[in-house]
Amino acid sequence: MSKELKPCPFCGSTATMRGGGDRASWIICDNKKCSATQGLEFTGENAVQMWNTRHAEDALKYDLAQKKAALLIISQWCDRGLKDGMRKHDMNEVFLWIRKLAKEEMGKDYDTDR
Ligand SMILES: [Zn+2]
Repeated sequence: MSKELKPCPFCGSTATMRGGGDRASWIICDNKKCSATQGLEFTGENAVQMWNTRHAEDALKYDLAQKKAALLIISQWCDRGLKDGMRKHDMNEVFLWIRKLAKEEMGKDYDTDR
């Protein structure tokens, strides 16, 4: 195999090619609880390329989905808070969570009070 397989985009485990060479081939995650795979390709080289490309795309999709989910939850929390009359404690929770997300995203704590 000329190209190295990237780790599984879902669980980070190593992956293995089945088939290979000029035969029908596919890549499967080595983690039995995950078993992520990509579609059957005509050659081993194509299978590696698809797996490694999928890796980058899925990582970006996963990252985007996490951000959308976080924004949705924050939005729902704010809606509920506005409707019910948000207590100070709940507001603090929202602000701490938003700051945590920002810190993770930016790799830096934006708490300017300290
Ligand atoms: Zn996996």
